[in-house]
Amino acid sequence: MKYVSTRGGSEELSFLEILLAGLAPDGGLYMPKSYPQISKETLDSWRKLSYADLAFEVLRLFSDDIPEEDLRQIVRKTYTAQVYCNGRADDDPSQITPIHWLGEEAGTQIGLLSLSNGPTLAFKDMAMQLLGNLFEYALAKEGRELNILGATSGDTGSAAEYAMRGKKGIRVFMLSPAGKMSAFQCAQMYSLQDPNIFNIAIQGVFDDAQDIVKAVSNDLEFKSKHKIGTVNSINWARVVAQVVYYFAGYLRATQDSSEKVSFCVPSGNFGNVCAGHIARMMGLPIHQLVVATNENDVLDEFFKTGHYRARKSAETFHTSSPSMDISKASNFERFVFDWLNRDGSLVKELFAQVEKQGGFDYSQHPARDKIEQFGFVSGRSTHTNRIETIQQVSRKYGVVIDTHTADGVQVARNYLQPGIKMLVLETALPVKFSETIETALGYLPDRPDAFVGIENLPQRLFTIPPQVSLIQEFIVKNT
Ligand SMILES: *Cc1c(COP(=O)(O)O)cnc(C)c1O
Repeated sequence: MKYVSTRGGSEELSFLEILLAGLAPDGGLYMPKSYPQISKETLDSWRKLSYADLAFEVLRLFSDDIPEEDLRQIVRKTYTAQVYCNGRADDDPSQITPIHWLGEEAGTQIGLLSLSNGPTLAFKDMAMQLLGNLFEYALAKEGRELNILGATSGDTGSAAEYAMRGKKGIRVFMLSPAGKMSAFQCAQMYSLQDPNIFNIAIQGVFDDAQDIVKAVSNDLEFKSKHKIGTVNSINWARVVAQVVYYFAGYLRATQDSSEKVSFCVPSGNFGNVCAGHIARMMGLPIHQLVVATNENDVLDEFFKTGHYRARKSAETFHTSSPSMDISKASNFERFVFDWLNRDGSLVKELFAQVEKQGGFDYSQHPARDKIEQFGFVSGRSTHTNRIETIQQVSRKYGVVIDTHTADGVQVARNYLQPGIKMLVLETALPVKFSETIETALGYLPDRPDAFVGIENLPQRLFTIPPQVSLIQEFIVKNT
């Protein structure tokens, strides 16, 4: 499998060649040159596989420069019942991503695909845990090292740290805003004692942390001398790792492969639902891909109208489903590439327009009608919807869901069709957002056993003023 850039200006590269890369040199995102096609027979032959072995079957189609025995070992090490053990009491951890059926609504079954049973209780673990093992493998092979530098307001940073802890050849320098995260989030990250994980609390806000990461990454000399890299959501390996659970969810929800299933995906940067799009392009019988947004409805607006209108930072709302608070969706360009017949120069033009004018308007363009062929529909949810949905799902089904998943359930309900099962992707466990759950239900959600009392564990963190030079000094001193 070879990879090309969505902007048409990159040479063709292999999986291992793009594994550690961010953007392509022309500013585009890497995409496979074509989609492997999965027949119904092949799909049915995968029904009895464990999650790890299913991951092997899917991933090997995209990473043929990793010897099969090596890949098999990597996925079996990644997707284990020991790692994905934080689900509800009646979940079977060996399923990795069990389905939690809620019940029947509008003549069909609606269920949660539990993606949040990993170490940080959010779906980002699904991809990040694999990335940790893939990075370690690729770096060892080339005798290289990598210093991952990132900024986090909570979720992504902890998923990266739990994926990279103890990995040979990798160090993580993660900047977080001092005093701006919940006690639970701080404990999750700062209690890690692994010597290759450096939590740096910046005396500033998240944007200060992010600006420092950008400044260090733009210092090309420093970047290459100190082997600085990132693990942001545009990384291709993260996207492809997520393709696997669409297959797993489909296979578990159906008996044979003539049936179609819809998926509803709480979306921010479009990474998760982009994986669904890829699964569908590979021939997985997905009826609709329902994109659910919160008040930050850039994507809902696009799928409803054909007008893509990125917002400014100042126009981005802080909501009670904070992991979906984005102003532009960094993986969206991958869909646009497929939608516009993989015309790299057109994609380049449109995203230059996004940079300059903040968006592009295809509402009157003939291509608009083609969006539907890709199965995409969308909806948005507000704080009030979220609270009501958490209450209803708890009352009706006895299941407590988090705020992001609530956005998904609320939007999914508008697209239920008799006989077509609807899987809502559960992107976090409620304990991560306990304050809003308490507002909705009047009590705090259950904590998985491993998280009881984590606030009392000793913490390892370094507090530094928000200055680029001080962060660079810290990296140099610790590498
Ligand atoms: C990251 C995240 C999302 C959004 O996923 P994207 O891939 O950015 O669309 C939704 N919910 C939770 C809990 C998340 O952490």
